[in-house]
Amino acid sequence: METPLDLVPVSQWGFFTLPRPMIIAGPCSAETREQVLETARGLSELGIHVFRAGIWKPRTHPGSFEGIGSEGLKWLREVKQTYGMKVGTEVASQRHVYECLKYGVDLVWIGARTTANPFLMQEIADALRDSDIPVLVKNPVNPDLDLWIGALERLNAAGIKKLGVIHRGFTTTEKIPYRNEPGWRVAIALRTRFPDLPFFADPSHMGGARQYLLELAQRALDLGLEGLMIESHCNPAVALSDAAQQLTPSGLKDLLGKIVVRDGSVEDYREGLSALRAQIDVIDENLLFALQSRMQVSRKIGQYKKDHNIAIVQASRWDEVLASMVEKGRSYGLDEAFVKEVFNAIHDASVQAQNRILGGE
Ligand code: PEP
Ligand code: MN
Repeated sequence: METPLDLVPVSQWGFFTLPRPMIIAGPCSAETREQVLETARGLSELGIHVFRAGIWKPRTHPGSFEGIGSEGLKWLREVKQTYGMKVGTEVASQRHVYECLKYGVDLVWIGARTTANPFLMQEIADALRDSDIPVLVKNPVNPDLDLWIGALERLNAAGIKKLGVIHRGFTTTEKIPYRNEPGWRVAIALRTRFPDLPFFADPSHMGGARQYLLELAQRALDLGLEGLMIESHCNPAVALSDAAQQLTPSGLKDLLGKIVVRDGSVEDYREGLSALRAQIDVIDENLLFALQSRMQVSRKIGQYKKDHNIAIVQASRWDEVLASMVEKGRSYGLDEAFVKEVFNAIHDASVQAQNRILGGE
C-alpha cells in the first residue's frame, strides 16, 4: 500500500517561473562544448531557465553514441555560469549521482528504463540521500503505475522531497505513429493519486518526430499537466542521438507560441469544456484498451475451441451474456437497444476473429 509523499512544493524550488507551462529544454545529448553552449544561448534568449542535456545515454545497441560522460558536466557548469540557467541530466547509477553532485548539477531525472528497475532505483535513492536537488522520475517503459509510484516512494524515503514526474509514454508493439504509446490514462491515474506532484510531459520521446510535438504538448496541457520537457539542439540534423525529434531553439519558440494554455486558474479550467473533453479522451482510450484485452481473451478461447473441436458459436451462451449485460446496463441507466447494439458488434468481431483461428489463418 502506498504512503502519501512528503513534498516541497515546486513553487519553492526556485527553478520555474509559474504559472504553467514550466519548461525544461536542451539537447538529447551533450555532444561538444560548442553545441551545448550554443543551444543554451538560444534557449536562454527565449527566457528558458532550466537546461537539460544527456551525459550518459541509455542506447538500445552498443556502438551508438552512449554519451560524452563526465567531461560534459564541465560544459553544464559553464552553462550555469554563462547564462544563469539551472542544469539537469539523467542519472542511472550511483556513480552518475556522485559525479552530478560533484559538478553542481541542479536537477536530475531518472530515465524510463531505470524507473523500471527497483534495484537501481534504491541505489540511486541511497546516493542522493538528503541532497537537496530536485529529482524528476520518468514513467517506466511499461505501463505499470505501481512501479512508477514505487520509484517515487524510494526517493521520498531517502529524504528527497523536491520530487516530480515526467510522462513520456510506453513501449508498444502496436503500429502507431508515435515512438511511444501515450497511455495518458496512466498519467491521469498518477495525477489523481498524487495531485500535488509536479507533472511534466515529454512530447519529444513520446512522439519521436518533430511533427507530433505540438499535438502531444497541447494534449498534456489540456489534461492539466504543468510542465514540458522538450529536446532542443542548435543543429538537429547532425545530432548524435534523437535527431528526428529535436527542435532548434527557434523551432521551440514557434511551438511554444502555438500552444494554448487554457487556464484562468487551474481550478476554473478543470471545470471547463476542454477538461471534460480531455476526460472523454481518456475514457475512450480506456474503452479501446478494454476492447483489445477482450479480443485477446477471445482469441485464446478460439484456440481452445480449435484444440478441443468445439463449434464457435453456442447461441444459448451468447443469449445469456447479452441478457445479463442488458440487465446490468439498465441498472447503470443505459438504454437497452444501445447496450444490445454495442455488445452484438463486439460479439460479431470476436466470432470473426475466432473463425480466422479455426480457418487456420
Ligand atoms: C532522455 O530524456 O534523454 C531519455 C533517454 O528519455 P527516456 O528515458 O524517456 O527514454
Ligand atoms: Mn533523447
